[in-house]
Amino acid sequence: MQMQFHRKLPIPQDVKKDFPLTDRMVQVRAKRDESIRAVFDGRSDKFILVIGPCSADQKEPVLEYISRLRRVEEQVSDKIIIIPRIYTNKPRTTGQGYKGMLHQPDPTAKPDMYKGIVAIRDIHLAALRDYDFSCADEMLYPENHRYLSDLLAYVAVGARSVENQQHRLTASGVGVPVGMKNPTGGDLSVMMNSIVAAQSSHTFIYRGWEVTSEGNAYAHAILRGYIDYAGRSVSNYHYEDLLRVQALYAQSNLINPSVLVDTNHNNSGKNYLEQIRIAKDIVHSRNQNSDIKRLVKGLMIESYIEDGAQGYGENVFGKSITDPCLGWEKTERLILDIAEKL
Ligand code: PEP
Ligand code: MN
Repeated sequence: MQMQFHRKLPIPQDVKKDFPLTDRMVQVRAKRDESIRAVFDGRSDKFILVIGPCSADQKEPVLEYISRLRRVEEQVSDKIIIIPRIYTNKPRTTGQGYKGMLHQPDPTAKPDMYKGIVAIRDIHLAALRDYDFSCADEMLYPENHRYLSDLLAYVAVGARSVENQQHRLTASGVGVPVGMKNPTGGDLSVMMNSIVAAQSSHTFIYRGWEVTSEGNAYAHAILRGYIDYAGRSVSNYHYEDLLRVQALYAQSNLINPSVLVDTNHNNSGKNYLEQIRIAKDIVHSRNQNSDIKRLVKGLMIESYIEDGAQGYGENVFGKSITDPCLGWEKTERLILDIAEKL
């Protein structure tokens, strides 16, 4: 046999019953969902910040980080909606290395998928219960989405997944806004086609069921920069890039045209400190042009407690073990600066 089957894992319905939301948590999430939807369909002009570490490696530092976001949101909530990133699944360029909390709830121990399912539910539950934050996660494995579907405020389909049919079909049945990233090679038509797929209704096989999705009216674009044929990072957050996406939306039949700009990854070339300048540049572009202001609904920022990233086994509290992140002091300053300039 080419693969060992270790054990059958519980289905999402059972895990949700074992680790449920309280009525208060359901209400907090529903209220946030409504205010986020209002941004994407143009009823609200608040600005969305999907912000947090590249990977949610451990519960304690991530919740400490989220408690700080809670205090900042209270100062800017008339202008900004903060959606913390709790990214529990990490796509890896070569498939090797740390795959996220789902695989390794203890990043120094061997993979344990049952413990992983419980751990990712536990951290999303804690963010909502203790800090009133429903959060964002990447849908790396579409069949796992329903382990968290009652908790999430926002879902991203990553640059390495956005051309995949099962991701697109599943996105069409997700109940919250789904951001479709441009692929690592940068082709904007792949991203736009994925939004068409996600906004449409489909009948398909999901977790062994025949299902029909409604179509996700809130599926939209995320610009994250790209890598050219020679392996160089190229950004796509400039004024002209935003105009180009606006033109692509205008040629399409898509509803709720919306863009989030990811300030790290190939937009910063992973020079994480550049995120400050890039974020301000995008806010400036919005202030130059009311069409761009309507289109660009927010930013995705990689941020954590400590600046940068650490190597395996260093174990600094709140320092990224995947992509380098903006540290807390600079993050807080940036959020307040953005709020002032909106
Ligand atoms: C991320 O958001 O950390 C990430 C992996 O993004 P991308 O899919 O754009 O590489
Ligand atoms: Mn990242």
